[in-house]
Amino acid sequence: MIIEKFSIGMGDRFAHQGQAQLRAVIEGRKLGLEIVPVWNKSNREHTIVKTEPASLRGEADAAVQALGWDGPYHVDADHINLTTVDRFLEASDFFTLDVADYVARPTAPEEIARFVSDAGGLIGSLCIPGLEHPLEISEALARATAAKFLYAMQEAGRIYRHIRERKGRFVTEVSVDETDTPQTPAELLLILFMLSRENVPVQTIAPKFTGRFNKGVDYVGDPARFEQEFDEDLAILAYAVKEFGLPQSLKLSVHSGSDKFSLYPIINRLVKKHGAGLHVKTAGTTWLEELIGLAEAGEAALIRKIYRGAYSRYEELAAPYSTVIDIDPAKLPSPDEVDGWSCDHFAQTLRHIPSNPAYNPHFRQLLHVAFKVAAELGTEYTGALERNAEVVGRNVTANLFERHIRPIFG
Ligand SMILES: [Zn+2]
Repeated sequence: MIIEKFSIGMGDRFAHQGQAQLRAVIEGRKLGLEIVPVWNKSNREHTIVKTEPASLRGEADAAVQALGWDGPYHVDADHINLTTVDRFLEASDFFTLDVADYVARPTAPEEIARFVSDAGGLIGSLCIPGLEHPLEISEALARATAAKFLYAMQEAGRIYRHIRERKGRFVTEVSVDETDTPQTPAELLLILFMLSRENVPVQTIAPKFTGRFNKGVDYVGDPARFEQEFDEDLAILAYAVKEFGLPQSLKLSVHSGSDKFSLYPIINRLVKKHGAGLHVKTAGTTWLEELIGLAEAGEAALIRKIYRGAYSRYEELAAPYSTVIDIDPAKLPSPDEVDGWSCDHFAQTLRHIPSNPAYNPHFRQLLHVAFKVAAELGTEYTGALERNAEVVGRNVTANLFERHIRPIFG
């Protein structure tokens, strides 16, 4: 199964916005943007919301049918590993092999030696088309990179083979984004070489980029440094396809955490410059649009209750996301204060319009990780989504289209 050139990952925690999300892709198509929708849900999200992967497949199929989408689409088993993949096998046709937890696991010295020997052609001064300077890879760097990543990429091979033995056609992504340090372009090249040695037909790869990709808020870091790194990564991927025999469709997957507005113009420009493909994953931004829509609809009691729950359970909710959020508790309004807000003020504080003085990224990040609170409300929450489907859906579509698809792919 070959992944198309441009694709957008969309997450939907409560499985009510499939059509609203697909509408955003259709809006893109009207402008001539051919983007393939991919519905993604991680094992972590399924566990927190207590859903099964079949529900995501059902949602995707239903949305496609309802809106008469005649293009390709995929269902991504996001961030799985050998211990979690099995329940996704039936419903998914896209698998994100998350091997971040296996980074820096010890590898036998003879394995490392064999890798360094196999990588001999890459060692030295390597001219890669599109790179301003030759890539310098010393034997010591190759050895250190193997010590850090070889076990993880062998693990990717084990997960890939486990799926392949049970499943016919699927797209393989490898992710190492949820680690502590970003991978340099040289490391990315060696990682791709490791995957080719494992015969993993990787089509999308999610490195960790420089800077902070906090959930639901803009990039924190140096955009110029990101630009240089992204530019180099694109050159490296093209080289790896040619030299290592990896799939022609290989492209970067940006696990954006959504809402990286200051990076989207850079990504847009560089993808065009290289004639590259691109996959961008978003997820929680849709759940936040649900809350914004509910605020617009005047569901004051419900949104205040969710905020109160989120505020009082801050530590519990933030813990699983500690590497991808930066919340200053001092900048969070108290629930009593929020109870005094109008619904419109709630929506403006939450909606990601950086120029709006009411916008509060701390408030937004807290609610981003608070979907567990809404999940526990069960039908009290989903009933409100159904009652207000139109206004909620309008916000979901506009957010994905105007703030994501258009600046990234337009
Ligand atoms: Zn990720």
